[in-house]
Amino acid sequence: MARLDPHSYADRAQAVTKSFDLALEVCFVSHTLRGTVTLHFAAPAAGTLDLDTRDLVIEGASVPFVLHPAEPILGSRLELTLPPATTAVELRYRTSPEASALQWLFPEQTASGKHPFLFSQCQAIHARSVVPCQDTPAIRQTYSASLDVPAALRGVMAAAPLGRQERGERAVERFVMPQPIPPYLFAFAVGEVVSRELGPRSRVWAEPSVVDAAAREFEGVESMLEAAERLFGPYDWERFDLLVMPPSFPYGGMENPRLTFLTPALITGDKSQVNVVAHELSHSWTGNLVTNANAEHFWLNEGFTVFAERRILEALEGAELAALHAALGREELDKSLALFAERPELTRLRTALTGVDPDEAFSIVPYEKGYLFLKTLEATLGRERFDVLLKTWLSEHRFGAVTTSDFVALLERCEPGLPQRVNAAAWLDAPGLPAHHWQPASARLERVRGLVGRLPTAAEGQSFTATEWQLFLEATPSPLPVEACRALDTAFALTACKNPELLVAWLTLATESGDAAVLGRVEEVLGRFGRLKYLKPLYRALLARPDTKPLARNIFDRERPRYHPIAQQVVKGLLEAASA
Ligand SMILES: [Zn+2]
Repeated sequence: MARLDPHSYADRAQAVTKSFDLALEVCFVSHTLRGTVTLHFAAPAAGTLDLDTRDLVIEGASVPFVLHPAEPILGSRLELTLPPATTAVELRYRTSPEASALQWLFPEQTASGKHPFLFSQCQAIHARSVVPCQDTPAIRQTYSASLDVPAALRGVMAAAPLGRQERGERAVERFVMPQPIPPYLFAFAVGEVVSRELGPRSRVWAEPSVVDAAAREFEGVESMLEAAERLFGPYDWERFDLLVMPPSFPYGGMENPRLTFLTPALITGDKSQVNVVAHELSHSWTGNLVTNANAEHFWLNEGFTVFAERRILEALEGAELAALHAALGREELDKSLALFAERPELTRLRTALTGVDPDEAFSIVPYEKGYLFLKTLEATLGRERFDVLLKTWLSEHRFGAVTTSDFVALLERCEPGLPQRVNAAAWLDAPGLPAHHWQPASARLERVRGLVGRLPTAAEGQSFTATEWQLFLEATPSPLPVEACRALDTAFALTACKNPELLVAWLTLATESGDAAVLGRVEEVLGRFGRLKYLKPLYRALLARPDTKPLARNIFDRERPRYHPIAQQVVKGLLEAASA
């Protein structure tokens, strides 16, 4: 046995999936998918083939099979026995209503309230709950797929659409994904969605009542694509469409190729959150094109993508805004490092995740520490030489899977001695942040920092952008005296603020400070959004104080069915940790 990935049963000695053909029938009554999949191999194979599955009922297969009992984290190994010279296998199966990749929303959980909605979220290791597969990013696969859905609804997929056929009450939508992807990028949604054109290669999909506001918020997407191509080379995925998800979507965005999924929380009317679109677009190069070989090297996806995101922001909005975002990231990193004080090994860039659930290891650390490492390399080499390095990395590993060692080898080859000079070992294999690292500096940043510790004057507060307010609040030492919270709120009406990023930064600080006047609003936010970036700090803040701890439990008991399975798991973990 030679496993490729600590989170997959895929074995390097066995057959390798090259492509698959998938047919899914969507049932909103039973909350299940009935699937047929044919896996095609890169070369004829024989003997054992282990596939990843989670909570699947295997109804039949073209070869003998054994479904082993589930292991925690990995799920159930589906052991197939391939006769000599097997080139393909067919499997028939059903998903569970509890499939970890799927969220089935009732009509009242959508914007219109009229139709149900279904979406998938396969990263990190949830594709196996939708389709039996070799669920490791080390094995890239192309696919074709059909979605059989109620005719009143639309199926969309992170793939090229081939058309829709209506058959009475049902409709079948067909797709093909010609570019090979890691299985975690398999994605689809079914619901009442319509689209608006944004540019020559982009449109936005959303529920009808949301789509026009979404089109206004994201109208700059083509200039973002052009800026990204100038920085990182041609866009390889043909389309960059966007899908605005229902509010329970657990992430800011998910970089599903050809169709990025976005939280509706980004639609603020002031374009203050378009950096998330820049982030997901950047993944088209870093992550989707050059992919971490497994979750132990997640920083190669996310650290590079934060770096790329802020380069796009700098090109489009200027260095001041990029510096503000870098400073915000640094505040979040410091908080995250403090939270991992008891598990410092998870704050290395290169992690050891055998026996660790990637969703549990997930944090901002690979994003922001990875970013700081790359900025430190850029500052050491100068931008021009660093850009050569970056382009070499992207072109040498195009449509490939990479490890941290691959990156160190590239550094050593292109810039001999550089890993030692920047103490790469400390960045990659030691916890926390090395003493010497790049730091953002800008006039606006200094101005915001200069105000931390006192109540801004009315003029100062009104001159802040949403991002500057957020930075001010994140940088304010917590807890504050309750009177200071009340003074801030009276002067600037922060509790009434509509920008969710800024609102959550404020509510977190006020809750940590014991300001009971904000708790109603905290409850409302926890009931409205399922984005983990909001849930985690607010639940943590409530759980940190004995007087608000019971409220956290009450809210979770009530709102839990509205949260995505991944979010339910994460919040449950916070509650358990708080009662331990
Ligand atoms: Zn990302």
